[in-house]
Amino acid sequence: MVRYVYDFTEGGRDLAGLLGGKGANLAEMTRLGLPVPPGFVVSTEACRAYLATGAEPEGMSREVSRHLAALEQSAGRRLGQPEDPLLVSVRSGARFSMPGMMETVLDIGLNDDSVQGLARVSGSARFAWDSYRRLVQMFGSTVMGVDAALFERTLATLKELRGVPDDVHLSTGDLVELVEAYKTLVRDVTGEDFPQSPAEQLQRAILAVFESWNGERARLYRRREHIPDDLGTAVTVQRMVYGNLGSDSGSGVAFTRDPATGRPGLYGDYLPNAQGEDVVAGIRNTVPLTELERLDPRSYRQLLDHMGTLERHYRDLCDIELTIERGTLWMLQTRVGKRTAEAAFAIAAELVDEGLIDDDEALARVSGEGLARLMFPRFDASRTGRPLARGLAASPGAASGAAVFDSAEAVRRAAAGEQVVLVRQETNPDDLPGMVAARAVLTSRGGKTSHAAVVARGMGKVCVCGAEELAVDTERRRLTTADGTVVEEGALLSVDGFTGDVYAGAVPPADSPVLRYLEGGRAEEDSDRVVGAVARALRHADAVRRLEVRANADTPEDAARARRFGARGIGLCRTEHMFLGDRRKLVEEMILARTDAERRHALDALLPLQRSDFTGILEAMDGLPVTIRLLDPPLHEFLPDRTELAVRIAAAEARGERPDPHDAELLDAVGRMHEENPMLGLRGVRLGLVVPGLFPLQVRAVAEAVVERTRAGGDPRAEIMVPLVGDVTELRLVREEVARVLAEVAEESGVPVRCPVGTMIELPRAALTAGRIAEEAEFFSFGTNDLTQTTWGFSRDDVEAAFFSDYLDKGIFPASPFETIDRAGVGRLVGIAVAEGRATRPDLTIGVCGEHGGDPESVHFFHTAGLDYVSCSPFRVPVARLEAGRAAL
Ligand code: PEP
Ligand code: MG
Repeated sequence: MVRYVYDFTEGGRDLAGLLGGKGANLAEMTRLGLPVPPGFVVSTEACRAYLATGAEPEGMSREVSRHLAALEQSAGRRLGQPEDPLLVSVRSGARFSMPGMMETVLDIGLNDDSVQGLARVSGSARFAWDSYRRLVQMFGSTVMGVDAALFERTLATLKELRGVPDDVHLSTGDLVELVEAYKTLVRDVTGEDFPQSPAEQLQRAILAVFESWNGERARLYRRREHIPDDLGTAVTVQRMVYGNLGSDSGSGVAFTRDPATGRPGLYGDYLPNAQGEDVVAGIRNTVPLTELERLDPRSYRQLLDHMGTLERHYRDLCDIELTIERGTLWMLQTRVGKRTAEAAFAIAAELVDEGLIDDDEALARVSGEGLARLMFPRFDASRTGRPLARGLAASPGAASGAAVFDSAEAVRRAAAGEQVVLVRQETNPDDLPGMVAARAVLTSRGGKTSHAAVVARGMGKVCVCGAEELAVDTERRRLTTADGTVVEEGALLSVDGFTGDVYAGAVPPADSPVLRYLEGGRAEEDSDRVVGAVARALRHADAVRRLEVRANADTPEDAARARRFGARGIGLCRTEHMFLGDRRKLVEEMILARTDAERRHALDALLPLQRSDFTGILEAMDGLPVTIRLLDPPLHEFLPDRTELAVRIAAAEARGERPDPHDAELLDAVGRMHEENPMLGLRGVRLGLVVPGLFPLQVRAVAEAVVERTRAGGDPRAEIMVPLVGDVTELRLVREEVARVLAEVAEESGVPVRCPVGTMIELPRAALTAGRIAEEAEFFSFGTNDLTQTTWGFSRDDVEAAFFSDYLDKGIFPASPFETIDRAGVGRLVGIAVAEGRATRPDLTIGVCGEHGGDPESVHFFHTAGLDYVSCSPFRVPVARLEAGRAAL
């Protein structure tokens, strides 16, 4: 029989899929003997069944009642009983953490009677009525659908009437009145009374949490984080404990290490006399957790003990939510904590040193994306000037942009291409779209565990929070600094998430230490713990990976940089830029040539230029393969724009002058060469087969560069790659010509020239006939940009902007197939081509040089598909090295 409900004593962390992360970890802590208020979990399976049918699955409510009865038994009290009621919280908890994106209802079990009982047993009527009004508010908005703002307005009106600044100044009588007002509001809006039955409250709250899985916020968050939509959330039902019962109570959030830097040691925020929600909301300012040592030394010591237990048990940084109820410490949540990229590397290395994990595990815990983030620039320290304010460095990075004061404005300006900094007093889940759109988030309130900080860290956004000197005025859309400087909406701000500093204007960026290390080798490795940790992770990745990493580079400078970054060769040297700039004239001449002699003249002039391009690159990559691709784009890309030419001619005519005859000739050529679908037209190998002399020119330039480098004592390893091949005959014809030119140059120079000839696989037909093509190809390189374009029939230059966001929304793919390889379609073609190519030629070298070569998830695919190397842009080389290592674990 299917089971839908599990007691905390029954589960464990390996059941996160069924119990959600929160439920599974509560069960784990219960098993470890830590003080967890008892409770049970309604599984994700129940949620999926409910969302699929719209009805509670058969038997679920019976199971809930049974577990509730057991909970009541152990507590010696019944849910909501009038004298001394048992109260419970109902919280969401999905497999992957989605902080604040779904619903929670606290204080379930309170009603007009039990509120009196709670007042008596707690000894505080104020506390009891405050809890009741929180319940009506949360239940009213979450379960009954009353706009949360209406409750806020009612509260604001009462505060105004009483002339008090915040809720803590309201009297018990005020709170009693507020509960009445809330209940009236609920009745007016929904036509229904706030339910007095505790059992009904519980049942409806569970279903409302299920439904919040499909709320707009949750869906947006999942899309961003690539969390599948069909997992559903579990619901934990747990006995309430109270941090707001006086000065010997409180709530806090703790990390076993600093999640921003990874430094070991207790770290967190504590708020005396408050509920957990108040800490995370950043509504009141917290004290550092270390203060607890003074406030409640016994609980503090216990907490340290428990945190040690958790870190040793999970062998990782854990974050914890805790509540102290009248001197008794309770653990309300733990999980392996989110951390910055910097902290991820540092912690992984330190845990290896502490003997808790090995190098493989350490490598598994860092990521290429994290490494990419660490390569981001910082602000140039010599150019920052005096900060406007300093807050808490909550999420690292450095970003500048126009200040905006609400989420909608951030979204609007970002969509128009502007870079923005979202400035708020504090953020809440409704600000999520704005946070996604912004380059940085700045808040004036809240600690490093506030919503803004947690969410920004998760997204890898720069964040400075709790900049208290700033007065943020959302209504008037401006902020004022301590010395009275006013920053209006639209003015530029620079936010430094490494230091917490905020500057006026746009501060110029400087390289990161990790980037400097990667570019320069070992120098800084010992002086900086993060750099040292990155170096260790990369060394281990290099030791375990099977995939080689090359770079896409077409200048000697890029080639040299890629080599410093660890590239072992060039996987794609595009030759098209070598036909631009000053050389355009020569290319025009070649295209317009009417006789062989004219064409030869142009080609002869291009030859030495091409040769010197190749010589420089071969020198930078001496001893390593350099795959040079023959010209790929349609030739008219090298001619002036048709409209521009026509306008120039018309303008001359209008002035009564004779148009430049060269312009007229060009216009004529452009007209002749015009193609409706140039990407499917005369390009790649087709060009080589129909434009006489073009490929031989390039091959000769390569061969002569090889000769030159050989004579200079170098070890040039040029390879010649033919683009856009669809049939083996195309490749054979080009290859014959290549062989002829190579032999000619060898003969003329007396230096043997051996360049392997291979092809790109970037058309479905090439993949499907790879067995034949391999007869002529000494290597394959997947051009997954074109292969994606031609497999899907998506124009790579148009579709992403045109409609991909709709496709992502509709779940047709989880990420653009131009960024992350489409395994099912394009990936299948790759698999076929690898198998059939190697069947023909077992020693065939196979790589990939499309953009996917630097995408972490795609690198894992290429590893599994059996490729020999990935090739990517120089800056992605360290990322690809790391991910190739992780793929091999
Ligand atoms: C490709 O198509 O994947 C490729 C690398 O070639 P280009 O991007 O130059 O078309
Ligand atoms: Mg291509």
